[in-house]
Amino acid sequence: MVVKINENYLKLKSSYLFTEVARRESEFINANPDADVIKMGIGDVTKPLVPSVINAFKDAVDEMGSADTFMGYGPEQGYGFLAEAIIENDYKKYGIEFDKSEVFISDGAKCDTGNIQEIFGLDNKIAVTDPVYTVYVDTNVMAGRTGKMKDDGMYENLVYLKCNTENNFIPELPDEDVDIIYLCYPNNPTGTTLTKDQLKVFVDYAKENKAIILFDAAYEAFISEDDVPHTIYEIEGAREVAIEFKSFSKTAGFTGTRCAYTVVPKELIGYDSEGNEIEINPLWNRRQTTKFNGVSYPVQKAAEATYSEEGQAQIKEVIDYYMENAKIIRDSLTEIGLTVYGGVSSPYIWVKTPNDMNSWDFFDILLNEANVIGTPGSGFGPSGEGYLRLTAFNTLENTKEAMDRISKLKF
Ligand SMILES: *Cc1c(COP(=O)(O)O)cnc(C)c1O
Repeated sequence: MVVKINENYLKLKSSYLFTEVARRESEFINANPDADVIKMGIGDVTKPLVPSVINAFKDAVDEMGSADTFMGYGPEQGYGFLAEAIIENDYKKYGIEFDKSEVFISDGAKCDTGNIQEIFGLDNKIAVTDPVYTVYVDTNVMAGRTGKMKDDGMYENLVYLKCNTENNFIPELPDEDVDIIYLCYPNNPTGTTLTKDQLKVFVDYAKENKAIILFDAAYEAFISEDDVPHTIYEIEGAREVAIEFKSFSKTAGFTGTRCAYTVVPKELIGYDSEGNEIEINPLWNRRQTTKFNGVSYPVQKAAEATYSEEGQAQIKEVIDYYMENAKIIRDSLTEIGLTVYGGVSSPYIWVKTPNDMNSWDFFDILLNEANVIGTPGSGFGPSGEGYLRLTAFNTLENTKEAMDRISKLKF
């Protein structure tokens, strides 16, 4: 006997994108040690946690150090105080009611969007937008829901909903039956949004086809446009067909602190092989209670503090700072004749490469001639070819300097 591996892992494309970006960057720095390289590819926040979060975090740490306030294992689903704050602030505000048992607090939306697929059968047909946050694709490859990657960069048995200039980044409904659709809005990597009417098309499709939408709203806090929904549950009928993922990572700088949540409404149903209706909520509850032991108490207290009046004001200030950067990037690039998308309700700016250049050639020009690093769009899927992603997470000074340099280039 020998140990057999899960061969689905062998189908995964190597994480070529960020390793190749890092390789070209260090090659450039070795050849040009004095160059001041500005990183505009960062997908991580850079501002520290705000004071009200830090205070709550510290107070909770002190509680852990005293016998009468010490907390051991908490509920796997998260503490009631945080679930209540979430329901009150992220849903009631929009006229949406949830029970605490429909909110599952976790240590990340990456884990949740990755783990959620295991409560669904392997014979479900999956659709993703293209370009895409690769977690949705790779976790389904690992589970065996796809075939091999084809020469065109697409996996067999996976449905790609193209998002490009032609459709103004509004994905069309799949032209074959699908069971599970991943949507992320505001979108990473394109920074584009869907209006309520555009999202309703997908909700209606899901209702009609007994499908489920996995809606990633990690960038909700960046929304500035009135007709862009803050939660998919603003769309009529969505509680019957959608699971929503949210995170404190981009909202409040929790990328290194780790806290997120997933909403699984009681109304949501799937089907067993005999066609019986099965509630999804108890399945996710069973998955979490079996495989997860909750987020640490101080982190949940820190997350709760983001909802205080002071906390809300402080995190808004940070988001406004990033969005000022986004505006500078948009305006500067538009000024020199480039076509850009996103950056209005999102920290990502999706730049169409000039003269139909490919993503990597444009990356090289920006690196070599402006010493600015972006992320080649082709790394996010075949439809990302011909685009480059810039982010608003650098400092204001660096953002301005990077735009000054790019503005001097001739395309
Ligand atoms: C950053 C990001 C998340 C957040 O992941 P965490 O694990 O909560 O840090 C989720 N989805 C997308 C698309 C993201 O870009």
